[in-house]
Amino acid sequence: MTVAAFDTLDYDYTASVAETAMRLMGEQRVPPTPNNFHVWFKYCLGSSPELKRTIDILIGNRRKFDAATNHDLFATYAGSQIVAEEAVLNNASDHLHSVMTSARQFLTTAIADNRTQMEAISDVTERTEAGFDPRSLVESLMSELAKAAARAAKLEVGFDEKTRELDAIRDSLNKSEERAKTDILTGLPNRRALDEFFRKAQIAAMENGEPLSILLIDIDHFKQFNDNFGHAVGDQVLRLVAKALRDRVRDIDLPARYGGEELIAVLPGANLAICTAVAERIRRSMAECQITRRSTGEILPGITVSIGVGQFQFGEAMADLIDRCDRALYLAKKSGRNRVVSENELNQEMAG
Ligand code: GH3
Ligand code: MG
Ligand code: MG
Repeated sequence: MTVAAFDTLDYDYTASVAETAMRLMGEQRVPPTPNNFHVWFKYCLGSSPELKRTIDILIGNRRKFDAATNHDLFATYAGSQIVAEEAVLNNASDHLHSVMTSARQFLTTAIADNRTQMEAISDVTERTEAGFDPRSLVESLMSELAKAAARAAKLEVGFDEKTRELDAIRDSLNKSEERAKTDILTGLPNRRALDEFFRKAQIAAMENGEPLSILLIDIDHFKQFNDNFGHAVGDQVLRLVAKALRDRVRDIDLPARYGGEELIAVLPGANLAICTAVAERIRRSMAECQITRRSTGEILPGITVSIGVGQFQFGEAMADLIDRCDRALYLAKKSGRNRVVSENELNQEMAG
């Protein structure tokens, strides 16, 4: 949401959001600067789920909102990102306009040259009939053609330059789109990318009659880990789990960050058994992984994950599939954690 979008909100509502923002900033000792206020106003408005989650985690972990944190929050969720993406778009549209203007100029000149040449040729024909010296006529015709060729060559150089600029714009737009679909902390695709990927995978699965499965990962006792070792070490662990996930899925799969400490992967073409086997490999790799604290070299207690696995049923919404994975995950937690549970076991439990 940009600043302008706030302006559409009504006075009483905005005032109450602002009041809450000021109160929370006071409680967290956040200096009421315009940038900080922007962040906290947006937080209270709830317009950015990612910002909300981040601040909730920071508060939950009793982290201080120091100058660096405040700056990061603004840069990531409120200020420069929006400005930067807008700049990319504005730049792109300016460039496109200039390329189109060049193209038009190229065409106009080419058409005009063409007309001049035709006139010159018809002139030559008339003059030949009138008995003029054919040599001088051909020379004047050639000189017209040479002038037109020189103009075309010059335009071509300009046009090549514009084409290169256009390629650069396309690259920067692609990068900007990629940033919008990437989670900053883990570098994994985010929820937006997940939704988009699943929508396509779901259609392909229905069209081709192929299976499609997902696995949902949740780190065990992560809150306690954060409490014992701090949020920054927790973040490192989250990155580690993200890497374990990424390394164990295929290129055609989509690993993503689903929420705070929950990761997910969509596996096109995989049935429940295959997806469960992949999940089991991820679980084992984490259970066997020894984590050393970079700053002190201290060996940290092992981190385990629980995973719920489900297979797409023809026509169902992603939310329903994830809901089954979530229930399988809950069962994995209930039965001791560090486990993979598939929706099949869910059915068995309900039957038993
Ligand atoms: P369980 O085994 O039942 O999953 O226990 P848990 O403590 O992991 O579960 P719970 O859902 O209660 O807590 C999740 C915790 O994950 C809360 C928060 O401290 C932590 N968390 C969520 N997102 C992040 C993050 O981005 N970074 C860090 N460091 N911690 C996070
Ligand atoms: Mg959780
Ligand atoms: Mg957890």
